[in-house]
Amino acid sequence: MTRGTQLEIRPAALIHNAERAAQLAGDAAVYAMIKANGYGHGLTLVAHTLRDYVGGFGVAVIEEAVALRESGIESPLMLLEGCFDEGEWRLAQQLNLEVVVHNIEQINTLAAAHLTDSVAVWLKVDTGMHRLGVPAEQVPTLVQQLSSRSEIQLIGLMTHFACADMADDHTSENQLRTLRSLAEQFALPYSAANSAALFQYSENAFTGRLPESSQGARVRPGIMLYGASPVEGQSSAALDLQVTQQFSARLIAVNCVQAGEAVGYGATWLASRDSRIGIVAVGYGDGYPRHASNGAPVAVAGMRTRTVGRVSMDMIAIDLTEIVDAKVGDRVELWGDLVSIDEVAAFCGTISYELFCQVTARVHRVITHGKA
Ligand SMILES: *Cc1c(COP(=O)(O)O)cnc(C)c1O
Repeated sequence: MTRGTQLEIRPAALIHNAERAAQLAGDAAVYAMIKANGYGHGLTLVAHTLRDYVGGFGVAVIEEAVALRESGIESPLMLLEGCFDEGEWRLAQQLNLEVVVHNIEQINTLAAAHLTDSVAVWLKVDTGMHRLGVPAEQVPTLVQQLSSRSEIQLIGLMTHFACADMADDHTSENQLRTLRSLAEQFALPYSAANSAALFQYSENAFTGRLPESSQGARVRPGIMLYGASPVEGQSSAALDLQVTQQFSARLIAVNCVQAGEAVGYGATWLASRDSRIGIVAVGYGDGYPRHASNGAPVAVAGMRTRTVGRVSMDMIAIDLTEIVDAKVGDRVELWGDLVSIDEVAAFCGTISYELFCQVTARVHRVITHGKA
């Protein structure tokens, strides 16, 4: 028996979820967000799986774009944080990237790069999130400035929503109104929607609330492609998203403890009855969150149970008292089909995104082909 701690990745589910995004996107092109190693699924794996199903991809940093081009991906690539120096501008131009410009400094480094050919640029507008983007008032001047430069091909305006995942919130509509009026003023395509906005607003597109259907528009789904719910209070299954990864590990010991005995570091869990405790070969050294101590859901042999005691670096303990058949060597699901990553994230006080990004390199990746 090997340790058997593994992350199973399901390309068919990635494709299903991308098709779901395309349905919601209407006429807009889908750019799949694959930054941070494809939300932990593998940058080039996700890109090669989805290249025929989406119009392009989005990455945060230029190294990710280089890796994609080196692996043979020729699709449009949006560089979300843009270029940080002159060398990156030259590289971006060579790699034919769509570069986001979100501040004046980036425009200045572009001038210093003395590009001989033109580079495609999205101008990012801050419509209310107050993270990246130029203020709406500066857009007219900047559009004029960018359009007058021969080394720049201004291809659109973009923005990012702060609250699209929240039910009954009107922030996104206000943000979009600002972006759309600028886009119309300068007859430029625009890009705004993340996964949450696709679900929250696309069905209302006909009412004019979020019509991402003008020519050249791009939507930018991320988390929904990976099968986690982007919307507060709604499960991914209810949104018809498929599970794209199962994180699992094996039982490496099964012990009995008596009522009153403690399990794990700090003795934070005390058996209230005589219990069977399973020790599972996964810990925070594998990216299983330490906040999952004492009560996070897991599944064994088709049944759900919970962690007991603290998560340690290489192991966790789980309660097997009710799962009488469980034995050494059995696989324990940490998240996947029976335990959703959203549930584990909620238990840990975080979001699925962080858990996806955290699984460490020592976890064996397994790709399962065929239907998920
Ligand atoms: C990551 C990212 C997205 C995707 O967001 P999800 O919530 O994962 O759908 C969209 N746009 C930008 C600018 C991003 O950085």
